[in-house]
Amino acid sequence: METSGFTEEQLTVREAIQKICSKYPDEYWAARDESGEYPFELHAQLAKEGWTGIALPQELGGASLGISEATMMLQTIAESGAGMAGAQSIHANVYATQPVAKFATPEQRQKMLPRLISGEWRACFGVTEPNTGLETLKLRTAAKRDGDEYRVSGQKIWISSAQVASKMVLLARTTPLEEVKKPSEGLSLFFIDFDKNAPGLELRRIKKMGGRAIDANEVFFDDYRIPADTLIGAEGQGFKIVLHGMNSERCLLAGEALGLGYAALGRAAKYARERVVFGRPIGQNQGIQHPLASAYMHLEAAKLATYHAARLYDNSVHDSSITQHAIGVACNSAKYLAAEAAFTACERAVLAHGGMGYAQEYHVERYLRECFVPRIAPVSREMIMNFVAEKALGLPRSY
Ligand SMILES: Cc1cc2nc3c(=O)[nH]c(=O)nc-3n(C[C@H](O)[C@H](O)[C@H](O)COP(=O)(O)OP(=O)(O)OC[C@H]3O[C@@H](n4cnc5c(N)ncnc54)[C@H](O)[C@@H]3O)c2cc1C
Repeated sequence: METSGFTEEQLTVREAIQKICSKYPDEYWAARDESGEYPFELHAQLAKEGWTGIALPQELGGASLGISEATMMLQTIAESGAGMAGAQSIHANVYATQPVAKFATPEQRQKMLPRLISGEWRACFGVTEPNTGLETLKLRTAAKRDGDEYRVSGQKIWISSAQVASKMVLLARTTPLEEVKKPSEGLSLFFIDFDKNAPGLELRRIKKMGGRAIDANEVFFDDYRIPADTLIGAEGQGFKIVLHGMNSERCLLAGEALGLGYAALGRAAKYARERVVFGRPIGQNQGIQHPLASAYMHLEAAKLATYHAARLYDNSVHDSSITQHAIGVACNSAKYLAAEAAFTACERAVLAHGGMGYAQEYHVERYLRECFVPRIAPVSREMIMNFVAEKALGLPRSY
């Protein structure tokens, strides 16, 4: 990747993360992908060196940097060959904590964040449900107030890192959909103990295509009790609160996709320089060169969109001319563009390796499997196009 134009902070982050990740080569990630074992060592080292709290306040133990630097951190992790698996080992702890940092009371923040920042706790993020999919406003998992507790019942799906997390940032319905004035009301955000030994909580691991070092799960709540003081912000306002974290997550995922794309392209260019067929390196053929050059330019363009979106997100704190509308369009566009550019880069990297692109040994097949994730999650390409058509072009809402 071309690094000119980045800030000194971003480049410092990149250098420090590259140093940590150099201890976890491609072979480490290929083995983890095979065994499905969580990368505890990387998470522990990132936490020890202060990176888990990169975008959280200094007074809580964080680094008080922005989403621009956090995006660079996740890009660099993915780019090291760790891919989505490596990035996802820390991803939720970076973005799911953003709404907590912003909307929790000072006492809650003090109670909830320092031990996540130190790495003692890990958090997972519980939004998606099997029966509502991308229609977040229809979420059904219910949290019913009962004295100084809420009782949670319902089901979540695709919850990453739930096997290793001791905390969950949970979006649940506190007012039935039929009783709310606006569909965006009635959902509430909680930061809860995720105690697998307590009654009313069960997990089932999902077998998946890639990024297998990070577990994905179905989560079943059946009258699971949580203290009322785990509610973040006002009851019924959880959707608006969670949106704050979602825009930052779009940037982080865009960074992760970029990292994967650049990693794939790096391997493809190396192979194309070294592999000789018909008496010359295959990379001397334009049929190999041009698709790789085109993939590079698309990644560079997506990189500009990504760091522009992250900058808008960060600067909006002190620049009131930056609207939430502009941030939403920029973050969604960046995630879309980076995911598509990464997919193209990974696909072309596999093809440039010929048969060896299909062999685990060259790692590009692992990158290709993983790079479907930013196209699907946390919001699909189609939903981003729906959103941009409506919000940027003023077309009628289609969903
Ligand atoms: C590896 C992985 C990790 C994940 N981690 C987490 C996590 O930690 N926490 C969490 O809460 N969730 C997580 N998710 C869930 C993820 O956010 C969802 O899978 C994603 O939001 C898509 O939702 P869905 O699977 O229900 O798709 P559906 O809503 O069922 O959609 C299926 C398809 O239909 C399309 N579609 C639906 N409606 C429309 C429409 N109106 N117009 C056009 N197209 C439409 C979609 O674009 C999509 O292609 C993860 C998913 C994956 C794959």
